[in-house]
Amino acid sequence: MHSWDLSTGVDGPGTRFVTFLSGCPLRCLYCHNPDTWRIRDGVRTSADDVIAEAGKYTRFIAAAGGGATVSGGEPLLQPVFTGELLHRMKHELGLHTALDTSGFLGARASDALLRDTDLVLLDIKSWDPDTYLKVTGRPVAPTLDFARRLAGLGTEVHVRFVLVPGLTDDPANVEGVASFAAGLGNVSRVDVLPFHKLGEAKWAALGRDVPLRDTPVPTATEVAAAKAIFVAEGLTAV
Ligand code: SF4
Repeated sequence: MHSWDLSTGVDGPGTRFVTFLSGCPLRCLYCHNPDTWRIRDGVRTSADDVIAEAGKYTRFIAAAGGGATVSGGEPLLQPVFTGELLHRMKHELGLHTALDTSGFLGARASDALLRDTDLVLLDIKSWDPDTYLKVTGRPVAPTLDFARRLAGLGTEVHVRFVLVPGLTDDPANVEGVASFAAGLGNVSRVDVLPFHKLGEAKWAALGRDVPLRDTPVPTATEVAAAKAIFVAEGLTAV
């Protein structure tokens, strides 16, 4: 595990107990948590410890209409641990559960894990396979396969899309994500997340070059234009 935190707004509905797991097979150019990439940099933690910590906040979280989110890194790198957390958060603590994932390792999620997941926050980082490879270093197909599987199960999904000028903001790319998401039928919301610079310090602290140092953050107009593409497909974009 990397850490846990109480958060509001970005990790699912309401106030959430978020468990960040260590390890990620992707290497996104805009990653703002590169300190979670290596599983060996995490702290060995038992599910009992996490559930005990979350239990301290259960009443407060439930009263605030929130829940528990398992995030990363990539939580499906440790599918058994993630599955146990989701199961116990839902059935022992009675919390709404969310899984925050890139979907790249979606095939590792058992049907039981997904039955214990009320909501999947699915990062679709690009539609175009070449751009996806450039952004993440990995192919897009597993993520799209996972999205289709979730649609088949009827699991609620929030799609996340990071808008990066000159990288993911080509209208054809945004349209590809939007029309795919709209065709699934289980996407209740799309979060268009403007690229930001807050992760640069972490890259520097890890002794890594910041790959998007010269990339500007998108303007409000550019963000609005991207959201409009999702809305035109009948989706709710925020
Ligand atoms: S999937 Fe998330 S944690 Fe992994 S590299 Fe990409 S942004 Fe970073």
